[in-house]
Amino acid sequence: MSDIETLAATYLETGRIDGLPQGHFIAGKATEPSPNKVLESFDPAAGAVFATFAAGTADDVDRAVTSAKDAFEKTWRDTAPAERGRILQRAAALIREKADMLALVECVDAGKTLQEARGDVGGAARAFEYYAGACDKLQGDSFPLGADYAGFSIHEPVGVTAHIIPWNFPISTAARGIAPALAAGCTVVAKPAEQTPFTALMLAQILAEAGLPEGVCNVVTGTGAEAGAPLTRHPDVDHITFTGSVTTGRAVMKAAADEVTRVILELGGKSPVIVLGDCDRERALDGVMGAIYENAGQICSAGSRLVIERSIHDEFVDALARRAAALTLGHGLRNPDMGPVNSAAQLEKIAGFVERARADGGEIVAGGEVATDPETGKGWFYRPTLIDNAKPADEVVREEIFGPVLTIQVADDADHALALANDSIYGLVAGIYTGDFATAHRLARGIDAGQVFINEYFAGGIEVPFGGNRKSGFGREKGIEGLKSYCKTKSIAARIS
Ligand code: ADP
Repeated sequence: MSDIETLAATYLETGRIDGLPQGHFIAGKATEPSPNKVLESFDPAAGAVFATFAAGTADDVDRAVTSAKDAFEKTWRDTAPAERGRILQRAAALIREKADMLALVECVDAGKTLQEARGDVGGAARAFEYYAGACDKLQGDSFPLGADYAGFSIHEPVGVTAHIIPWNFPISTAARGIAPALAAGCTVVAKPAEQTPFTALMLAQILAEAGLPEGVCNVVTGTGAEAGAPLTRHPDVDHITFTGSVTTGRAVMKAAADEVTRVILELGGKSPVIVLGDCDRERALDGVMGAIYENAGQICSAGSRLVIERSIHDEFVDALARRAAALTLGHGLRNPDMGPVNSAAQLEKIAGFVERARADGGEIVAGGEVATDPETGKGWFYRPTLIDNAKPADEVVREEIFGPVLTIQVADDADHALALANDSIYGLVAGIYTGDFATAHRLARGIDAGQVFINEYFAGGIEVPFGGNRKSGFGREKGIEGLKSYCKTKSIAARIS
């Protein structure tokens, strides 16, 4: 058996993972959690606790921020960019070396399939590689002030950065924020979601092993109220990157306002996928399936609203329904097509949306039921669901469900599709499937979203800026723009004659 097969078999037999990090990671080392301050973490595919972790408090946050502030002032701010790059590059290599264990933990803790978890771990390694290469290329500008002046700008690191991380992409969201922050010369305090605390701690250990000086990257685990909120209020935090719900995003922004702390908010989405009659059918079917059922639909940029041209509606929806019904569910470690949803609360929320749609006469043409792991009869699963002929005012069209539920709206033509696509309070991403180049680009221009995918949903990578418009938030992560989010521009103008 390969390493990962052995790890998976051991976990499935024992329900335990040996060697999980314990405590917070502060000032370069793991701290012991106080015995009365622990929380439980669940394996959603089994619906059972598999580990405990430290419940952080304002005191833990304060120690982490103090350590990050110290490290910023004493070492990291002034570490040569090329040296920062070498450390980040080593971290990327270590993530790849430890990919099996990271993927196992992510799979069990978040309820992903192993394949999805491996993809996320690979994505985390790519983030460190990408920003490792960018450390020594953060160049400023020079300004044409004439012969009597010298004018130029430099990009200075913002300082101590807080990263509040959601449960749906724990390691990849942590990496896409932490890597550029470190590359820019900032230090970090990360607060992973209470549902998925472990891979952020493992990442901090890996960074220490790669040579990151102590205090540069700290992780405090715990709940949003006890650990997240004190972090957003802390006067020594200079920047907050928050990924999560709109409601919590508002609270974070309000807390940040008191200290005039910078924020990036990456919030929800209700992203449209426009499929026109002249598309490549197979490609569009693959794309629409992946857009909504990857990670069981628990993706802020999931394509959760299909907007389909009337001419192909019937045949396309028939094909989708057949594919959705054929998807296998199960524990992520057995590599089914789709894993569980992350928590009992999330399952209830998803089921509630679909039940209300059904009661309102919604046409549920696939799924629409809770399920369990067929091997064990346990876990929190929801069948891949399609709701056909949905109307713009329907709750399932307007609100983010964060589960494997796709609504289908019918459009008369491309312009109608564009109008339906833009009829949302969100503006995160959008997908377009058409064989016509000009139409694709006309629609891409017309859509109010931070990122548009043409003929491949989720096309792109760490190189491509990502972030939302409208209630999906503001600020951009990934790409060089993501790196600049962790910099403050200083302009210097000098009289030289
Ligand atoms: P969800 O409702 O799906 O759990 P949240 O937006 O509440 O999503 O959670 C995203 C992240 O924000 C998690 O790490 C969570 O602990 C954290 N969080 C929740 N409430 C707060 C808060 N008031 N201040 C800061 N962070 C918070």
